Amino acid sequence: MKTALITGIYGQDGAYLAAHLLKQGYRVVGAARRSAAHGDSRLVELGIEKDVEIKTIELTESSNITHLIKQLQPDEIYNLGAQSFVAESFACPEYTANVDALAVLRILEAIRAHCPETRFYQASTSEMFGKVQAIPQSETTPFYPRSPYGVAKLFGHWSTVNHRESYGMHATSGILFNHESPLRGPEFVTRKITKTLASIRQGDATVLKLGNMDAKRDWGFAGDYVVGMWLMVQAQEADDFVLATGQTHTVREFVSAAASVCEFDLEWSGTGPAEKAIDRKTGKTIVAVNPEFYRPAEVDLLIGDPSKAKAKLGWQATVTFKQLSEMMMMADLKRAAKK
Ligand code: NDP
Ligand code: GDP
Repeated sequence: MKTALITGIYGQDGAYLAAHLLKQGYRVVGAARRSAAHGDSRLVELGIEKDVEIKTIELTESSNITHLIKQLQPDEIYNLGAQSFVAESFACPEYTANVDALAVLRILEAIRAHCPETRFYQASTSEMFGKVQAIPQSETTPFYPRSPYGVAKLFGHWSTVNHRESYGMHATSGILFNHESPLRGPEFVTRKITKTLASIRQGDATVLKLGNMDAKRDWGFAGDYVVGMWLMVQAQEADDFVLATGQTHTVREFVSAAASVCEFDLEWSGTGPAEKAIDRKTGKTIVAVNPEFYRPAEVDLLIGDPSKAKAKLGWQATVTFKQLSEMMMMADLKRAAKK
């Protein structure tokens, strides 16, 4: 039986990856910080909370990382733990660098010292492409990060590549485009949209307030992407891989897709901060802009080219944009109705 260690086990991807590894017959050890924001609620939603062993870890602290890795001697480590919210990284850039950049090096050094045969997966991100230098973006597209989060993740990416090339470690960087699910954190735009629209339907909220609705993202389903992570770690040679759907949509398109699931008939008007959408049936304003949600620097367009992952790993996204928005909207409508 293989042992896998997952940092960030209580996050969206940690939960889906744990479920996938358990299905493959792994012993799954999850590392979470003591003051975990969401606790094990995502593992509970997937019904696997009793099947995962939880260890406490704080990624800003070398000693506990080294101790855990030395003691556990895992076959595989998936480093998913991160301050993962771009907007928050502008408010806390040093902390973001500590967790998203330096912690990667801490883990790589612990593996090098105590279990050099352990395979390592680093959760890199399309945010590293930032102000995109090519369309679509692939493994060979130059990086141009546009946030402290993107800058920190780039350090983690290059540290992974450098340890692979310097010490022959099986260290892989997965450059994943945005992936969502009903378990996505409510601060991210897709989940904020579905959660708020469900509350409006229920009569508990009135208006969905957003920032830049022109931003375009390549949104896939997290359940597909964790399978890609696992496939990367099983590959004979460690490498870098993009996972994406190859399709891109604006934030506004996601709002419209989700709104149609809960039977709002939106009519859009205005531009910039004056943009809004009313429900034709009631005349009520459902969506408005709050410039507070604009970012100091924006990533305008992301669209990935996943052809390397398809050719070398046989991986491809299975859930479409429409299916994803429906899945998330239905899940939040159910939760709102239960409340
Ligand atoms: P989440 O934010 O849902 O999960 C991240 C987890 O990391 C959380 O459980 C969080 O704990 C934990 N964490 C944060 N800081 C620390 C710390 N100092 N010590 C220990 N644990 C910590 O992210 P996702 O699951 O969505 O993403 C997984 C990884 O993939 C992240 O690294 C993210 O940056 C990256 N990524 C995600 C993409 C996406 O679209 N989802 C796209 C590309 C990359 P707590 O629960 O306490 O907050
Ligand atoms: P990101 O791609 O990792 O930054 O994922 P997010 O879901 O946080 O943001 C995706 C895009 O939606 C970004 O371009 C944001 O500027 C845009 N956006 C517009 N309004 C909002 C909002 O209210 N919240 C968030 N999180 N993003 C918003």
